[in-house]
Amino acid sequence: MTASLPYPALHATHGGIWLATPDGQTHALSRGEAIARAADTPTILLNAPMVAARLGFADLSGLDILELFAFVHPARFVVPTPAALARWLDIAPPTDDAAAAGFLRRAAETLLDHVAAADWAERDGAWACAQALGRLRWPWSEALDTHLKSPERPDRWLFSRLPEWDEAAPRPAPRNLTPDPAQVTADLAACLGDGAEIREGQRAYAAAATQVFAPRRADGRPQLLLAEAGTGIGKTLGYLAPSARWARDASGTVWISTYTKALQRQLDRETTRLWPDPATRDHKVVIRKGRENYLCLLNLEDALQGGFQGRAAILAQLVARWAAYSRDGDMVGGDLPGWLPSLFRRAGSTALSDRRGECVYAGCPHYRKCFIERSVRAAADADIVIANHALVMLLAQRAERDEGALARLVFDEGHHLFDAADSTFSAALTGQELIELRRWVIGPEKASRGRRRGLAARLSDVASYDEAGGQAILDAAAAAADLPADGWLGRIVEGIALGPLERLLAAVRATVFARAQAQDAGYGLETEAAELDGALVEAAVPAMAALEALLRPLTRLGQRLEAVLGDAPDWLDSQARARVEGAIAGLATRCSLLTSLVALVGRLGGAADPDFVDWLAVDRVEGREYDVGIHRHWLDPTRPLAETVLGPAHGVLVTSATLRGAGGWDQADALTGARHLEQAPQHFAAPSPFDYARQAEVLIVTDIRRGDMAALAGAYARLVEAAGGGVLGLFSAISRLKAVHARIADRLARAGLPLYAQHVDPVDTGTLIDIFRDDPHASLLGTDALRDGVDVPGDSLRLVVMEGVPWPRPTVLHGARRASGGGAAHDDRIVRARLAQGFGRLIRRAGDSGKFVILSAALPSRLLDAFPVGVPIRRVTLAEAAAAIAAGPAPLPGDGSTLSSDAALGHQGHHDAPETR
Ligand code: SF4
Repeated sequence: MTASLPYPALHATHGGIWLATPDGQTHALSRGEAIARAADTPTILLNAPMVAARLGFADLSGLDILELFAFVHPARFVVPTPAALARWLDIAPPTDDAAAAGFLRRAAETLLDHVAAADWAERDGAWACAQALGRLRWPWSEALDTHLKSPERPDRWLFSRLPEWDEAAPRPAPRNLTPDPAQVTADLAACLGDGAEIREGQRAYAAAATQVFAPRRADGRPQLLLAEAGTGIGKTLGYLAPSARWARDASGTVWISTYTKALQRQLDRETTRLWPDPATRDHKVVIRKGRENYLCLLNLEDALQGGFQGRAAILAQLVARWAAYSRDGDMVGGDLPGWLPSLFRRAGSTALSDRRGECVYAGCPHYRKCFIERSVRAAADADIVIANHALVMLLAQRAERDEGALARLVFDEGHHLFDAADSTFSAALTGQELIELRRWVIGPEKASRGRRRGLAARLSDVASYDEAGGQAILDAAAAAADLPADGWLGRIVEGIALGPLERLLAAVRATVFARAQAQDAGYGLETEAAELDGALVEAAVPAMAALEALLRPLTRLGQRLEAVLGDAPDWLDSQARARVEGAIAGLATRCSLLTSLVALVGRLGGAADPDFVDWLAVDRVEGREYDVGIHRHWLDPTRPLAETVLGPAHGVLVTSATLRGAGGWDQADALTGARHLEQAPQHFAAPSPFDYARQAEVLIVTDIRRGDMAALAGAYARLVEAAGGGVLGLFSAISRLKAVHARIADRLARAGLPLYAQHVDPVDTGTLIDIFRDDPHASLLGTDALRDGVDVPGDSLRLVVMEGVPWPRPTVLHGARRASGGGAAHDDRIVRARLAQGFGRLIRRAGDSGKFVILSAALPSRLLDAFPVGVPIRRVTLAEAAAAIAAGPAPLPGDGSTLSSDAALGHQGHHDAPETR
């Protein structure tokens, strides 16, 4: 055991602040005293930004245990709470908050013991990294110095550790075959393990899913199945088993797409049942995400060699440490702890990925080790690719599908296909988008962090070889000078816009402020792009000309690059060829973007196109503006979805626990794009095996007046207290979430009930959910993203509270869809889906139980069929709800006080017997 560290440790919650000194004493402190001590002496902290938020002192820094953890155990994850850290380190947890301060000192000493241990698994590369961190004056360097011995052999540093990928021949087209259902059932049984029985619903589901792998009968007519599987059916294995069987027998790849990262992670875990051996699984299963998720090694190298300064440089070192041990280099939802970038207030982390399309492909010295390139190649050869809806749609849109890719698709969380298509197949001309385009063409205009270069620098060899190409680059740079430049937003606010695009944005902003009505004070403003003023229409003309002036040379440059490839000059070795091909792909993306922007601007002041909805918006957070722009969405985004994704595929399974809603299969066909295909889809449904009537109860609290913030906050506090924590609170407005949190967090913390909140606590949402899951006394407040991104089975989630009826926000887009899609019935469909998703958080496993509370004096009875058949529903006062929650499990139905959702409320019973085809 290490000698005692000479540093005090500080622990702060909403309930109090404690300091443990090296002599073993612990004292309670005031905020002022804590800030003074931490500013005075190097102090051990757990999650400095979180402690800073508790103290109300943004500049707090110290010896953060999470940074030390990231150094000692890179690519490993710990939930950032004292109790979870204790479990991870296998040491005694603190008994209460006061004891947590002393515990932090022990935890730090234990981590340093790991460094000194002979069997430390992550020693490789640590010495060189520690030396670099020492030069950056990392607070832990001094303590580390005494524990970390210099290596006997030279350290293997990141770039020498990473494996190289190999080019492989393209995979032949998969064989035409339909998996044998009996074989799939046997595979499913093998996954479930010895003795486990396949439930009938899961067996029927897997048999139905098998049919999408049958050869399609005609071009443009994929085998399409819409399958609703109630929670608990086991649909994940139900489709994984036939997918894996088909992939194995046909030598093909099945793409499985999710909407949330939580399900992506869960799927990855489930594949261990199919391929228990990690080495085999690494080859068979590949996770693919958008490029912006992965670490770019060239950006990292640049950051390590002086591109980053101060804290960002320390982050770069810790990221380099992680990269050497990472499974796949995924920085968002992969094995980089989600809390690591937020410890550095996100300084620099985004600059480490390839967000702006500046990859130089084979021109990059790390090309053969690049995580992105590796995942693309691994996916081409994998049996199962786990991706997300946005990426699948983007690849399909860019026609990046070869013979095998995207031919067999499984869309889980299929109820989100509409939303994913809505954002993928949309266009936006905004200041942020345009300044990115300008930088992509010209490069950064003043000294900036990173290795960003303009087109001229990236293609200098082409420019010197091909005169016309060189001229196109010069013309593009001249035209890009008309796009918004640094400081554009300040200028348009002050009325001194420069250039045609800034002047257009200034006119857009003025129109928005003249016409929009704020929905959530201090947040986004928008107005329909109709009957526009002369000033805006006039500004559109030169703006469109400027966009076209940029589009022309970029198109010409793409053609010249194609010609250079055709000429194949001497200098065009395989690396240069790959780089030019990369540039052609980048240009195609920008040209397609510019074409859509020209169309967008060209329509301002003209006749409305009935297929699209256009609006103007000013994006704001807490009153601070950060973007201005013009937006265009498809009225029905499932049209391009059907055309570009579903139609060209051979087989598609769209599945979810809530696919149909009250509108039945017609609704599912409409929201998934199935109705735009030539042939009707197949349908399958299996009801949930859960006994919702016994496991859950819905309580509608009728005595909280809408708009009464004090009453709303009081209600949340009372419900959290009654439940003893384990509450997920859902809000539809960030401002109300923050107001409620501010009023009740201290009171609850003093009762031993920690309350965390999205948009308040300075950590990423994934980490907040992990903290919530880990502590059955914790509660979490969040907005829409939590409504179905949270999978917390077991005791940690016992109560879901919605602040009111989740009506859709009356946006321009919503108004247009409402007008074309059934008026109030359209609103009802959205509310039902949201209620079902919120309720769906509650019962995740057979043993779960809990209550769903909605604070609403007037929840219409017609919407109650959103809840599963048989679940008891009561309209109660807050006091009655609190008493029922404190009393424990849900009452049995039919005890006289409950309404049955199917009988008393006229429920049509949409979870009927399984339909078979
Ligand atoms: S190949 Fe591209 S993305 Fe990969 S490391 Fe190099 S520059 Fe970055």
